[in-house]
Amino acid sequence: MSVCVVHLGASSTFLAIADGDYRIVVRTLRYVPLYERARQTYADLIDEVLSVLLLPGAASVVDQLTALVVTAPTPVAWPSGHVGLCPGMPALQDRHLRRDICERLSQLHKISPDVLIENDANAAAILWASRNPEQGRDPHVHCRLSTGVGGCIMVEGRPWRGHRSLAGEIGHMTVQPFGTLCGCGNRGCLETVAGGKALQGLYAELLGKTQAPHFMTLLKDWHEHQIDISRHLQAMGTYLGIGLASAVNLMNPAFVVVSGPLLDQRSMLRDAIQTEFLQRVCASLECSLIFDETSADDPFEAGIEVLKHWRRESMQRTVA
Ligand SMILES: [Zn+2]
Repeated sequence: MSVCVVHLGASSTFLAIADGDYRIVVRTLRYVPLYERARQTYADLIDEVLSVLLLPGAASVVDQLTALVVTAPTPVAWPSGHVGLCPGMPALQDRHLRRDICERLSQLHKISPDVLIENDANAAAILWASRNPEQGRDPHVHCRLSTGVGGCIMVEGRPWRGHRSLAGEIGHMTVQPFGTLCGCGNRGCLETVAGGKALQGLYAELLGKTQAPHFMTLLKDWHEHQIDISRHLQAMGTYLGIGLASAVNLMNPAFVVVSGPLLDQRSMLRDAIQTEFLQRVCASLECSLIFDETSADDPFEAGIEVLKHWRRESMQRTVA
């Protein structure tokens, strides 16, 4: 038996194959420029997902593939795998991604594994809840900071998915009524001022460039890129604190978890989020803020936990 995990990020692709005990056989990560991702066709994106079956050693395990899990920063209906609005990968919008991947696997490889498509913030939240089983059952909000700003509302250990199973889009809360145009068509969304894409846009604007290095490169080597990102991280943290406090004031969760690569070694961002959050959230709600800088941001572990979560729920439905 083998399992594949793919994270189709707005600016990166992660591919992995594991054995039946979820031990990694092979894995790879590559950064993808935002402009390249944005112009990929639907066929390109499906090819990118299925390129996991071209990794070294994949040929010997394809026949034993039992599941393929794809996580992506897009609202996606669960479990149908129909993709909603997807600003970073417009070719995915309104597509039946799960159905189309199943068809390709059947046609090209004559296999029919379980195929799961999940929002990456939901996947991070499911992973965090599995690693913190007691706290994880309390109602909470999970915010994942990466290229964009993802969100998940967790209730009783599972994502609360809303009317069309697309809930939790914290990144598209309006924080500037006349702000920058967002990929979703609105103006002044949280992720236009906070997140890796916003940081890259800021860098390009400040230095008059058309393209910026990946935001992880900017964070690590900002001094080499002639930009002091300190005050911009401060502003990002302020907007994130406002957005998260608004979510808390609306939903009264027990706590908020913030995870994702943008947090990496950036205490200034964390401090700014916390300061603004504490000022804006209603004190009587008694909501705490938890920063998780590493454990909830492994795309492989998150994908595997999505699979386990789905298998548990399937078993419960069968028993019921
Ligand atoms: Zn938006």
